[in-house]
Amino acid sequence: MRPVSLLELRQVGYQVGDTPILQDINLTIDQGEWVTLTGPSGGGKSTLVRIMASLLSRTSGELSFVGKSIDDYDPIAYRRRVSYSFQQPTLFGATVRDNLQFPYQIRQLPFDQQRAVTALKYVGLTAADLDKAVVDLSGGQRQRVALLRNVMIYPEVLILDEVTAGLDADNKAFVWSMIRHFNVDDGITIVAITHDQAEIDAAKRLVTLADGRLVGGAQ
Ligand code: ADP
Repeated sequence: MRPVSLLELRQVGYQVGDTPILQDINLTIDQGEWVTLTGPSGGGKSTLVRIMASLLSRTSGELSFVGKSIDDYDPIAYRRRVSYSFQQPTLFGATVRDNLQFPYQIRQLPFDQQRAVTALKYVGLTAADLDKAVVDLSGGQRQRVALLRNVMIYPEVLILDEVTAGLDADNKAFVWSMIRHFNVDDGITIVAITHDQAEIDAAKRLVTLADGRLVGGAQ
């Protein structure tokens, strides 16, 4: 049985003034897929995923999510289903708990502490770290907590924009193994921009973008 298409881009383009940034992007991403997006710096990767995440609007073409145009979704509801994580982690509040509680607060849901503790274990942290001050975390720990915050309530698509940039090998391994768990065990669709050679070599599906176009034609 063919998997469900989650994201479908048809002839998507993005132009600033007269300058084309993205052109003729045709890409279908199925439920449960892991798409690794790579290519030279300035090729348009961030622009493309920001369009997919509804943080930027395409200037041409069609983009649909679960068979319906992105234009027909409420942007806030959409961004909860298609979540975007950027390389620079921004933590707020005083403690790790403040951050992990946040997704529940904005939805007016009770905090699921058990789930938070389980999630912390996945990334090599413990229940005691819930009350740790954000300022006392290492850079790698901050990055892991920032990612966890985005997945406390699972999105359907997790878009990762160089989330392991600047991390050392151990922290990279933690982050990738956590993401692998989300994909393999929980079926979350992953779209990950990376320059990590090991990830590129291991990619299940590699999509390359250069000069604003997909290399290799329709995908
Ligand atoms: P990548 O993520 O592959 O490094 P980006 O998507 O960040 O590429 O950028 C692609 C190109 O588009 C770059 O040359 C960048 O300078 C340009 N660009 C992106 N957004 C804008 C904008 N709002 N105005 C002008 N140029 C832009």
